[in-house]
Amino acid sequence: MSKEFEIAVFHGDGIGPEIMAPTLRLLDGLSGAYRFAWRDCPAGAASYLDCGSDLPEASLETARRADAILLSALGDPAVRYPDGTEMTPQIDIRIALDLYAGVRPVRIVPGMRTPLALPEGKVVDFVLVRESTEGLFHTQGKGTVTADMAEETLRLTRRTTEKVCRFSFDLARARKAEGHRGRVTSVDKANVFRAFAFWREIFDGVARDYPDLTADHAYVDAMALWFVLKPWDWDVMVTENMFGDILSDLGAGLMGGLGMAPSADIGDDHAVFQPCHGSAPDIAGQGIANPFAMILSAGMMLDWLGRRHAVPEMIADAARVQAAVDGCLAAGETTGDLGGTLDTEGAADAVIARL
Ligand code: ATP
Ligand code: MG
Repeated sequence: MSKEFEIAVFHGDGIGPEIMAPTLRLLDGLSGAYRFAWRDCPAGAASYLDCGSDLPEASLETARRADAILLSALGDPAVRYPDGTEMTPQIDIRIALDLYAGVRPVRIVPGMRTPLALPEGKVVDFVLVRESTEGLFHTQGKGTVTADMAEETLRLTRRTTEKVCRFSFDLARARKAEGHRGRVTSVDKANVFRAFAFWREIFDGVARDYPDLTADHAYVDAMALWFVLKPWDWDVMVTENMFGDILSDLGAGLMGGLGMAPSADIGDDHAVFQPCHGSAPDIAGQGIANPFAMILSAGMMLDWLGRRHAVPEMIADAARVQAAVDGCLAAGETTGDLGGTLDTEGAADAVIARL
């Protein structure tokens, strides 16, 4: 009997539907051991114009009930709330479903337009885990602003800090089984802020439960330097929300841009898989968007579902999807942003052909 998974699908705005369609086609063609039931979830700018809500309650409810959530890109800078601010339903979903672990893998493989000149034999393959529900985003939209002063609050709770640290050590342990070095680095600013001394103490406490792994610390400013000077040195890093927001774009930059950066936002009971890039309204409707970040995010979903429900075929397919994208990159079977000549569907077909 093949196992069926219910997946909430946010087709999104701009290039969102263009990269989602071939990704679902790829997933539908994968395996006999499992299959998917897609549940469409209207949200974002189109939904706001249509029904006055960028995250309708029905969509959130479908997401809550689903086994996993696939999301392309939500929002359009041209469609704003009456007060002029941009909508961020993807952040609202993270908070509503308590998706505290933002997983941002950074891998540099041949064919990527990395700005780095890597020394011979150096492999860049690390994962940044960004706490995604509190930190400096705690007062998001609710900060205090007067004529003479503006104030936002950084908030770290023991509960969430402990969870995101534990998640990172579990991830490092799983990666160690696959040949990585089994190291977790806490990225903080404990030399200046008491809040980060609190973070560190919790990190160190969790580390004691993982004697098989190496745990260490780095200051976030130094880490920004080391991302560029020795990106091969890292395995898993865990950091606060805003630090993670900034470092994950730096990580995407190492891979040559947002078009290659997948992500997952994971909690205890739910997970969203989405590319790091936005809805790219400047190229929407032309069929030229790079689908690889979306496809790699779908691969992360296979890995997460496969481990959670003990479906080895899914875990194996996750690795096959990544290898197929790597193969396309190395062979130059890519969209224009990566120097290739394929359109969105053509690039997705190239991945499917390799599967
Ligand atoms: P957001 O605020 O939603 O994060 P953003 O302002 O960061 O959005 P993006 O929508 O990610 O912007 O687009 C940034 C640039 O990258 C644009 O020029 C866009 O065309 C390009 N881009 C983003 N995603 C892709 C993609 N999948 N394929 C090709 N180009 C892309
Ligand atoms: Mg952005």
